[in-house]
Amino acid sequence: MKQLLSIFLAILCLQSCYSQNQPSKKTSMDQSKNNTHPNYSHTDSSKLVLTNSEWKNLLSPEVYAIAREKGTERPFTSPFETSKKLGTYHCAACGNPLFKSNAKFDSGCGWPSFFEPITKSSILYLPDNTLGMKRIEVECGRCKAHLGHVFEDGPQPTGLRYCINGVVLDFEEK
Ligand SMILES: [Zn+2]
Repeated sequence: MKQLLSIFLAILCLQSCYSQNQPSKKTSMDQSKNNTHPNYSHTDSSKLVLTNSEWKNLLSPEVYAIAREKGTERPFTSPFETSKKLGTYHCAACGNPLFKSNAKFDSGCGWPSFFEPITKSSILYLPDNTLGMKRIEVECGRCKAHLGHVFEDGPQPTGLRYCINGVVLDFEEK
């Protein structure tokens, strides 16, 4: 009986130690992990067309609000904005490779900024005349997720600034 009791106590102790080691809250850096789904791929470049309700089932509410409803994250909230890590930034909705870390620069505008995409077809460009401004919206070339905008005040060699919502980026470290 005594033996049983000590085994029981040992299990209880192990359980409580185990639960203490579990992260209580996911950080936004881990956000991408919630978005992997059967169509998510870092290598499949075939176009991905899904309905909004299908996307809603696949994406976290934060990613859905920006990718499918053209929302904008609050400035200076993305951990990617100041990150200097080497690697590749993918679309958080479908996994499409979008930007290399060596095309990233510190624009100070509050959102992760890049001067060029990985390939021409990584990105789609659309005129955006909302909010009384003439801007060029950028979307993912594979799934048409809204990413942000591109401006002509970036550094050389392109002179472009791709101003991207960090929520819709998924980083793979080199
Ligand atoms: Zn995409």
